[in-house]
Amino acid sequence: MSLNHYQKKRNFKKTSEPKGKISGKKSGHAFVVQKHDASQLHFDFRLEVDGVLKSWAVPKGPSLNPKEKRLAVQTEDHPLDYKDFEGVIPEGEYGAGVVMIWDHGNFKNLANRSLTKCLQQGLIEISLEGHRLKGGFALKFFRMDNKKRLWLLIKMNDDQADRKRKPVSTQTKSIKTGRTLYQIKKQSH
Ligand code: MN
Repeated sequence: MSLNHYQKKRNFKKTSEPKGKISGKKSGHAFVVQKHDASQLHFDFRLEVDGVLKSWAVPKGPSLNPKEKRLAVQTEDHPLDYKDFEGVIPEGEYGAGVVMIWDHGNFKNLANRSLTKCLQQGLIEISLEGHRLKGGFALKFFRMDNKKRLWLLIKMNDDQADRKRKPVSTQTKSIKTGRTLYQIKKQSH
C-alpha cells in the first residue's frame, strides 16, 4: 500500500486535501462516496483497506437496481483522512472542482477471504451500512484499458435493492453538512 501516486499528483501548498499518511490501524471498515464536480461530474467510491482508501471513479454513481451495472474506474489509493474531505480543489490542481461527502458509513466484507485477496482476484462483495446506500454491492473487475483497471459496481439482489429509488439523482445534498455543491463552493473561500 502506498500513497506515492496520490501525493505526486497534488501540490499540498495549493490544495486543502489531506496529505495523508498510511494509518497503522488495520481494523477499520469505513466507506465513503464523494460527489465530485470536476471536469466531468462523477462519484468517487472509496473503501478502507489496510489503512488506505481503495478508490474508484463511478461516472454515473451507484445504482440500487441490480440490473444496472455501473462502470467504476479504479484510481489511486487515497489516505484514510480523505473520507472527511469536503471542499474545493483549486483551479490548476488535480481534480479541480467541488467535493461533497454524499454518503458514508461502514461496510462488511461478505467474502470469506481478505479484501486484499478480493482486490487481487477482481471480485469484491460487501454490505454497506450507509444512509443512502445499504445492503450488498459487488465490484467486479472486467478489463484493463490503457493501464486502468475497469470494474463494474453492481447492487446485489437483496431486500435493499430498489428499482425505483434513484438516490444519485434525488439526493443532492451533503450527508455530512446538508450543503449543495454550490453552497460548498461558495463557503470554501
Ligand atoms: Mn474524483
